[in-house]
Amino acid sequence: MSFPLFLDLPGLLAGRLLQAPANATSEVRHLLLDSRRVGLPVGAVFFALRGLSHDGHRYLPALYSQGVRLFIIEENTTLLNGLSAYSEAGIIEVASPLAALQTLAAVHREEFNGPVFGITGSNGKTTVKEWLAQLLSPDEDICRSPRSYNSQVGVPLSVWELNPERHTLGIFEAGISEVGEMERLAAIIQPTEGIFTTIGTAHDAGFTSAEQKLREKLRLFEGAHFQRLFYCADQPLVRTAVVSLGLPTFCWTRQPTQSADLRFTLVAASGDSTSLQAEYVATGLTATFSLPFADEPSIENGLHCLAVLLHRQVEPAEIQRRLARLHPVAMRLEMKLGRHDSYLLDDTYNNDLAGLALALNALARQSRPGRRTLILSDVLESGLTGEALYARVVGLLPAAGVSRVVGIGEEISRELCAKSANNEELSIEVESSEVNSACSIQVFPTTEAFLAQLNPADFVHETILIKGARRFGFERIVAALQAQQHGTVLEVNLDALSHNLQYYRRQLRPGTKLMVMVKAFAYGAGSYEVASLLEFQRADYLAVAYADEGIALREAGISLPIMVMNAAPDAFETLRRYRLEPEIYSFEMLDEYLATFDIPSELPAPKIHLKLDTGMRRLGFDEAELPTLAARLRQHTAHLPVASMMTHLAAADEPGHDDFTREQLAAFRRMTTVLEAALGHSVLKHVLNSAGILRFPEAHFDMVRLGIGLYGVDASNTSDPTALRPVSQLRTTISQIKTLPAGATVGYGRRGTAAATERRIATLAIGYADGYDRRFGNGAGTVLIHGQPAPLLGSVCMDMCMVDVTAIPQARAGDVALVFGDGLPLPELAGRIGTIAYELLTNVSERVKRVFVSE
Ligand SMILES: *Cc1c(COP(=O)(O)O)cnc(C)c1O
Repeated sequence: MSFPLFLDLPGLLAGRLLQAPANATSEVRHLLLDSRRVGLPVGAVFFALRGLSHDGHRYLPALYSQGVRLFIIEENTTLLNGLSAYSEAGIIEVASPLAALQTLAAVHREEFNGPVFGITGSNGKTTVKEWLAQLLSPDEDICRSPRSYNSQVGVPLSVWELNPERHTLGIFEAGISEVGEMERLAAIIQPTEGIFTTIGTAHDAGFTSAEQKLREKLRLFEGAHFQRLFYCADQPLVRTAVVSLGLPTFCWTRQPTQSADLRFTLVAASGDSTSLQAEYVATGLTATFSLPFADEPSIENGLHCLAVLLHRQVEPAEIQRRLARLHPVAMRLEMKLGRHDSYLLDDTYNNDLAGLALALNALARQSRPGRRTLILSDVLESGLTGEALYARVVGLLPAAGVSRVVGIGEEISRELCAKSANNEELSIEVESSEVNSACSIQVFPTTEAFLAQLNPADFVHETILIKGARRFGFERIVAALQAQQHGTVLEVNLDALSHNLQYYRRQLRPGTKLMVMVKAFAYGAGSYEVASLLEFQRADYLAVAYADEGIALREAGISLPIMVMNAAPDAFETLRRYRLEPEIYSFEMLDEYLATFDIPSELPAPKIHLKLDTGMRRLGFDEAELPTLAARLRQHTAHLPVASMMTHLAAADEPGHDDFTREQLAAFRRMTTVLEAALGHSVLKHVLNSAGILRFPEAHFDMVRLGIGLYGVDASNTSDPTALRPVSQLRTTISQIKTLPAGATVGYGRRGTAAATERRIATLAIGYADGYDRRFGNGAGTVLIHGQPAPLLGSVCMDMCMVDVTAIPQARAGDVALVFGDGLPLPELAGRIGTIAYELLTNVSERVKRVFVSE
């Protein structure tokens, strides 16, 4: 991807160059608005925005000291400490840094030629965006707004992430609060397609009427290249406005008499699913779909997405398959062990009605016994009046078995008190023990008020859904209720995983199959969750090292074909039962396998994969054994279900051995030609691992075997360093802080010393039993605390280690320390102790809790 030069910005943004950067060829790579999120300073341009209570110009000295060198500031600003304090910086003055930010994003948008969806409406924007991205992710590489970045500032940041060389589709949401704002967002997003969700009737301060608000929102769709608006024709206000503007549309209805492109008719509804028949008027297609939820906002949001998929002519069976998986990754919901044997569902990022319904669904699916509690903030963005809104909220509770509600916020306090005073549906008996019949309610005006009286012992043996809009800061409640005994977590980002999968897919010729290696607990990331995502993303094959790993996947419901690389011969009967396909790498194994045909069975014999040794010298038939192997195949060709032939490269990632690699490829071609002739038919052939996929495109054959690349590590060092996203973050917490006098020693064998001056050290809750390598001890390793490096002091112990935090005075017990992930890339850490990223990933012990997130 090409980036503009900083020196080109004055022309693009109608600005004035106050000072050229010391590096005249500085490129604009990242847009930075927040001094706490610098990340990579190289190529970061800081836009000094001014808000009501905030002035970005105040942060220039801090940013400069963190290495940021490119700044856009407002005209006539007096710089703190004068220009000379920023001697290496490039500084441009503009009339409005916000307008400049928006213009730059709009210019960037023009480089992208693919389709771009713009989503607006009063409710459901974020949900529709997330769901659409999920549903289309098997077909497209999507750039979408992170979370609900839909404002004057969020939209330019989102659109800046579009990479014309990588993405095939953009999905951005736009939210406005006053007249004039949408025009600016439209100029940045420049949508080619759009979705209008719904219009709320609530009175909005920024508009004189609902009509005016609607008219403003529809401005998003007035650009010259706009092709199609997806909307629901059942809201008369919306239909009239859309029709009178003459926008090109694809509309749907749920009413029998309304004319529309697509008609949905309810077939059946149950507690947690809804099935509807869809009739596509133009093509005559009818099909029935089942949505995995029953609440009205979710159905509405789901139908918007369904309309897009039907219009794209995705096969109905395929649509259904994707719909069925919709909710598990629809929200950022984390499951955590709580104190006092409780279990927390942590969803503390946004809180609209649809999101609440989904989270309650997730709560309903928990099978743990005991009481269910909901800690809920004010529900935002609903478009309903308080009374109607909380009536809906209360209506959702019984199905999830909620028997205690803690409401936090002014509005929820008022409404829930009113309801319990009227004795509607609820009673206010605190500590009621009758599940489902009565629900106990407590309310607090603010999160602080709740925390002030919180006693974690009030929450015992229960499942607690903690659901709050971001501004309520519910992460503090989670921290108070979460079990503290072992603060180490491996966070696995499922979005990053999908992203990496798409990246490798794009390297393949159409039709090349993809096998994904999920051996060793999916490189430490968690086999079941990764396999389940791969099934959704339509990988063709999975591979594991041992039969047990395959059995665990089958028992968890994974149905993709699974190859087992090293099955013990006596496991063949088990393989048959679990539909697992062994690699056959020796004559002994082949004989054992053939012997299973003598055992009568209802089930077909498992397919096999022939492993050929072309130079790895690990497992497989040698070229010298080829004549014998060919003869054996000829003998049994009638009933040998050979699914594939494969070999493994010894040095796919090392250019110095490319000649050897080419010899391996030539040997593979020779051997497979002979074997296929012996079998009398051709089979799938595959050779390449992650590094090989990128380095030997001529040798993709019929299938490739993706491994570490999926987990975000480029073993070949050939791809653009931003092409892959890191998948795993290993984090732990500080258990205690100590001050060491000069000369004191730390830990076993007294190998750490506080040297000449007093040091502050932190004891971390991670040790070699968690997979944190002992070789990181004594300064070899570093963790990040508050974003700053803290070196290891002394030896790594079994369950703990110590780091020096003298330079991080704000570090406190309970703070998080990052062990690897963003800012601490695996290959670099591995290099420090003479190993490879593979080992660091697979060493993370199973006792470390995995948390799966999706944004
Ligand atoms: C592990 C493995 C792979 C994947 O290797 P990566 O380097 O992780 O991509 C491919 N093929 C075989 C036979 C393997 O054992």
